[in-house]
This record gives sequence, C-alpha cells and structure tokens, in this order.
Amino acid sequence: MAILRKRQIDNLEQLSGEELQAFIDSLPDAQETISELLNYLEDELYDKECNHSLRYSMQYMMEKNLNFPKLTGWLTDNGGYCDCKVMEQIAPEWRRKFGDD
Ligand SMILES: [Zn+2]
Repeated sequence: MAILRKRQIDNLEQLSGEELQAFIDSLPDAQETISELLNYLEDELYDKECNHSLRYSMQYMMEKNLNFPKLTGWLTDNGGYCDCKVMEQIAPEWRRKFGDD
C-alpha cells in the first residue's frame, strides 16, 4: 500500500506559536496574499465552472505578478490540483485557522 505523504495543510489546525510561524515562513507568498487568492477563486467559481486546471489561480497570480511556479507547486502539494480542488482541499483548513477575510 502506498504511503501518502501528509499534506502540510492537514497539520495547520494543530499548529501554534513557533510551529505556526515556521508554517507561515514556509509559505510561497504572504499569508494575506494566499487568503486573497482563495477569496478570488471563490468569487470566480461562484458563477463559472472549474475546467480542472488552475486557470483562475493563474489568472490571479498573473494579475498580481506573483511567483506562479512557487505558488502552484505549493497548491498542488496540498491537494489543490485545480481551482475547485483548491477550494475543497485548502480553503477550509486555511480559513479554519486564519479566518476568511
Ligand atoms: Zn476542478
């Protein structure tokens, strides 16, 4: 049986103090930027379909001039293989910890 690597985001809820700081330091961009990305995706997917790519994530990264190889690498490592998966796999854990604003 294959051993699945535990996603970093799965531990997020239990982190505090230095461990939480280390998590934040390891992020591919500012905590705020990632929160904004999630909000952006939520708005885009409200009335549009995910086409099973990171199309809207990429669109946001282009608009903001972000480092997209780094960010998409982080998203896919955490189960966000496409825009709807980012919302399904990452946003709930993220928002439980950091709120949704
Ligand atoms: Zn999708």
